[in-house]
Amino acid sequence: MAQSGGSERRDVFELARGVDFVPYAEAFLGVEFTDIRAPKCLCPWHEDKHPSFSVDLRKNKGKCFSCGEGGTIIDFTAKLTGKTPLQAATKIVEDLGL
Ligand SMILES: [Zn+2]
Repeated sequence: MAQSGGSERRDVFELARGVDFVPYAEAFLGVEFTDIRAPKCLCPWHEDKHPSFSVDLRKNKGKCFSCGEGGTIIDFTAKLTGKTPLQAATKIVEDLGL
């Protein structure tokens, strides 16, 4: 497919940011959430024993109330998998075939 030069990187981030946080993390990162309406999971930024990381479904972003770290599904994927944000965004897009 023809790419109009230079926009590929931004498109990957835009596509990945639009992905629903919780379903993606469950399906592709093996993360378990405690509650569908107010989802919480173990925080990837600190050693978490009880789920401290909550996802705001309207903002499609997460934040840990224990260590204060958070971010988009791209940040979350990058942290969990040890990838750069670009690699994480690319993974998300490829996992979902976007
Ligand atoms: Zn944390």
